[in-house]
Amino acid sequence: MSAPDEGHDHVEVLRARIAACTLCAEHLPLGPRPIARFSASAQLVIIGQAPGTKVHASGVPWDDDSGDRLREWLGIDKPTFYDPAQVAQMPMGFCYPGKAAGGDAPPRKECAPQWHEAVLDVLPENRLTLLVGVHAQARYLPHLKRLSLAERVSRFGEDLPFIALPHPAWRSRLFMAGHPWFARDILPALRAKVQAILDQVIR
Ligand code: SF4
Repeated sequence: MSAPDEGHDHVEVLRARIAACTLCAEHLPLGPRPIARFSASAQLVIIGQAPGTKVHASGVPWDDDSGDRLREWLGIDKPTFYDPAQVAQMPMGFCYPGKAAGGDAPPRKECAPQWHEAVLDVLPENRLTLLVGVHAQARYLPHLKRLSLAERVSRFGEDLPFIALPHPAWRSRLFMAGHPWFARDILPALRAKVQAILDQVIR
C-alpha cells in the first residue's frame, strides 16, 4: 500500500496526463478538452456519455439540464455533486465528440480503453458506480446487452456495484412517462443507496 502523499501525487499525475491527452484529437471538432473529476476517496462514481457543447465551454461536467435532472434523481445538491472527494465523474468519452444525426455523436471509442482503468485504479474498492446511458452499460454490463434499457434499469440492485440508469437528457421524460415504476420505485431506492455510500466517504 502506498503512503497517502504518494497516492495524492499519483492522482495529480493522472489528472495531468488526462488533461494533456490528444489521442483522438483529429476526430474532435472543438479539439480536446477532457472533462473528468476524481479523487482517491470518491466512493460514488458517475460514468456518463460525453460532454455536450455547453459542458465543453464551461469545463464543468453535467453543467446543463441533464445534470440538474441527474442531481434530482440522486437527491444530492451541487456542492456534493461537484466535490471530487465524494463523487467521481468519468464519462465514456472525456471530450465533446461532435454532432451526428439526431444529436451529439457517441463518445469517442478510444477514450474509455485509454483512461478508465487508470482512473478506477485510484478510486476506493468499495465504490458504487452509476452507469448513466447505454454506452456505459455496454462497457460495464456486457452480459446484459440483449436487454432493453428499461430491463437493465429495472434490475436495480441486482448488478451491484453497478446501477444502470437512463441518460437524463430531455428524452428521459419519455422514458419516465412510459415506465412510471422508475420514479415510483427506483428513484427512492437510488437516493437511499447514494446517501448510504456518501455517508461512508473517508477523506
Ligand atoms: S476523448 Fe479521450 S482519448 Fe480522445 S482526446 Fe479526449 S481524453 Fe483523449
